[in-house]
Amino acid sequence: MWETLNEALTNINTKDDYLARRDARQAEQDAQREREQQQREMGQWRAELWACPSCGGDVDPGHTAQDGYQPQRGGLCPVCERARRELEAERIAAQERTGIVARLRGRSADR
Ligand SMILES: [Zn+2]
Repeated sequence: MWETLNEALTNINTKDDYLARRDARQAEQDAQREREQQQREMGQWRAELWACPSCGGDVDPGHTAQDGYQPQRGGLCPVCERARRELEAERIAAQERTGIVARLRGRSADR
């Protein structure tokens, strides 16, 4: 009986057992550190969001639109940016039309 107990007590302190416990502690610490890291990254990610100045929706700088548009800090969300570009393109097209008409008028006036 004593022999068995003594053996059992001794076995707890074998090198393998010590290493196994150390590995388990190490793994637990690693897992804890990883959880903390993920939480920090989540917090950072949240902090990086801002409200779109046009529609007030959350803008995620990590989000790249299909056309490759990546919002700059404080900039428009991809939806508003697309609308803005369409308006801009339309404005330029209108200006060009006006310009052509003006040139045509100018040419006919020279004649
Ligand atoms: Zn927007």
